[in-house]
Amino acid sequence: MLQDPTGRGIGYLRLSLTKACSMRCTYCRPEKLEHPKGEPVLTPAEIERLARYLVERYGVYKVRLTGGDPTSRRELVEIIERIARIEGVHDVSMTTNGLTLPKHARDYADAGLNRVNVSLDSLDAARFARMTGVDGLERVLAGLDAARDAGLSPVKLNTVVLRGENDAELPDLVRFSAERDLPIRFIELMPMGPLSSQWSERYVTESEMRAQIAPAVRTWAPLPQGPDAARRFDVVLDDGTVARIGFITPMSCNFCADCNRLRVAADGAVYPCLMDRPRGTLLDAVRPAFDAEAVDRVLASAYAQKQPEHPHDGFVVMTHIGG
Ligand code: SAM
Repeated sequence: MLQDPTGRGIGYLRLSLTKACSMRCTYCRPEKLEHPKGEPVLTPAEIERLARYLVERYGVYKVRLTGGDPTSRRELVEIIERIARIEGVHDVSMTTNGLTLPKHARDYADAGLNRVNVSLDSLDAARFARMTGVDGLERVLAGLDAARDAGLSPVKLNTVVLRGENDAELPDLVRFSAERDLPIRFIELMPMGPLSSQWSERYVTESEMRAQIAPAVRTWAPLPQGPDAARRFDVVLDDGTVARIGFITPMSCNFCADCNRLRVAADGAVYPCLMDRPRGTLLDAVRPAFDAEAVDRVLASAYAQKQPEHPHDGFVVMTHIGG
């Protein structure tokens, strides 16, 4: 049994498959769109072997694929297949920018993906392009339909809220979520990546977000905290439609006490905390041959260093680890 000094273990594995991403979001922006040449990446077979061990030895029961963008990884379908067939993994999900969904949602679902979270920061095409660096709103919206048609469920929307950019658009996003019956989660900006130096001006708290949405809402019914740490509400809108809204509040009300996430980057780096520095690497423990004792040693050392709460400022950009 692996535990950090405050008794938290692992249940949820978040695997970043690449640093590459086809978007360049202003708050996340990779310096390059590609995974750096020459930097190692765990192979599909290494990922499967590692995930299988983490399930058997440490009780991991759900796996999320992230990035960069996981869809930028050529072997994505093979990786989904390999993870989905591990006995004990009850849930295989992916976080994506949505651009490949119109073409490939069915391939992902057929490979064993259960559900998907799609970033959607704006419904205004110009703002979407400004925030993501890609004129891709139509494609992402088509991707949401394709994901649903392929049987991925639920399809959730993720919106990072930036003051002075998309904060006034929250009621429209909630209406869209109600119309399409897709749960939406509003995410507080974290001080990591290119906007860290402007964080205090651009960050919007959960209570401010709720105030923005309030005029469009007739009733708020709080739900128990979701497994994804979102503070969730079922809301009835002024036109009688309903939406499920979540707020992901790493800054105003962190959820560190219940954190059971282990993050492994594409190159094998281990992050017991999203905002902390890497605490070791599993690359040498899986290559050239899988070495269970070495995996145990790396994880024990990493978890011994897991802090009770995340630091205020992140150490790396999100594209290295996935959100
Ligand atoms: N490319 C995928 C996507 O677009 O969802 C997956 C990786 S992305 C790093 C995962 C999540 O992190 C996205 O929802 C993104 O909006 C969020 N994110 C990135 N930088 C962030 C920041 N500084 N603060 C809060 N959320 C951030």
